[in-house]
Amino acid sequence: MFQRYPSMHYLARCPVLVPHLAFADDIIIFSNGTKSSLKRITTFLAEYEQCSGQKVNSSKSGFILSAKASLSRANVVGGALGFSRIRLPTKYLGMPLYKGPKKSFLWDDLISKIAARMEGWEAKVLSPGGRITILKSILTSMPLYLLHVIVPPKTVMCGASIHDSPIWKRLSRAGRACEDFIRWKVGCGKINFWHDIWVDDSALSRYNPPIGESHRLVSSYWRDNTWYLDHVRSIIPNDIVDSLYLIAVSSTRVDHPLWTLTANGGFTMYSAWNRVRQVSDRQPIFSKIWHASIPLKISFFIWRLLNDFIPVDTRIQSKGICMVSKCHGCNDIESLEHLFLFCPSVSPVWNFFASMFSVSLPVDGSIRHWLSAWFLSGDYVSEGHIRIIIPIFVLWFIWLERNDAKHRNMSFYPST
Ligand SMILES: [Zn+2]
Repeated sequence: MFQRYPSMHYLARCPVLVPHLAFADDIIIFSNGTKSSLKRITTFLAEYEQCSGQKVNSSKSGFILSAKASLSRANVVGGALGFSRIRLPTKYLGMPLYKGPKKSFLWDDLISKIAARMEGWEAKVLSPGGRITILKSILTSMPLYLLHVIVPPKTVMCGASIHDSPIWKRLSRAGRACEDFIRWKVGCGKINFWHDIWVDDSALSRYNPPIGESHRLVSSYWRDNTWYLDHVRSIIPNDIVDSLYLIAVSSTRVDHPLWTLTANGGFTMYSAWNRVRQVSDRQPIFSKIWHASIPLKISFFIWRLLNDFIPVDTRIQSKGICMVSKCHGCNDIESLEHLFLFCPSVSPVWNFFASMFSVSLPVDGSIRHWLSAWFLSGDYVSEGHIRIIIPIFVLWFIWLERNDAKHRNMSFYPST
């Protein structure tokens, strides 16, 4: 429609004419607002309704006019569209839509939503598997993504309770680490001259921007189809200035980001993750635990067990909390090794499976030592084999039995 009637376009200062923004059913159509344009839009929407069987909800739709537009003008547009007038600021895809300077109150809704989710994590009521699911959901949710695209004022982030969240800090750290791998192909030059990487292999900020210039855009150093050389030569070294001759700013091209960690320049989460994560030596025991044949919550549990994160009585005492320790299997002190390996109530279970798989059980040692003995006993078997899985499940069910005994007053009698 806009291709056929280009005069319908809403004329902004931006060189790119945007006819609409659409994400699922959240659509903004920009037009010049003349009667004929409005008529075409309503006709188009009616045709869409007829073809798709969907209906535009006029109570949830509206039109935005300039704040200076007269009441009679608003009445004309409202009459033509059948919608009511919306005044800025409003929201699109949950993000504030506004004109003029960024005001911190515009982000109040969004920040409180994110803070509520973060508090959900901090309450630690979810299992680690559940937390991973929420983490994925939040990472892929639109608000956080948009926070990176539309940067709110610093006061918003400083005042937000998410600011202190360790997860937020790690996300920010990963984001900063990834920025080093973005190279910009200059188009209209609306990228930062000093802090984005667009010429040479790193940001020009290493040459210390002159006072007051650190926020300037690439396009602001481009005049009359050439670089503003007198000034540029005084602020960056000559060899960099020479390479500027190969770069031209064009108001009709958008700046294009290239991700340097993939061959085609496209961003992938996998390449970013591989770059920012810290890799330690591979421990064979973990490849047996993190396996498709073992439910994620059990893998997490064993990982916590091996890292001494399971809150048995002696672990809680070690945190300075005074309490009497009592193993629900034998009334002895409940330590990690006692509960999971050596308690007389669990020994029969271990002995049963040890004789089934001809495993010689260690007489003492840690859970890591115990599991290694299981995994390495007998002929080699691969991950996912029943002999590898059994001790993992035994540990998991001992923990379930213990929790039932402690918190639900049930008997602690694991049986074979
Ligand atoms: Zn016991």
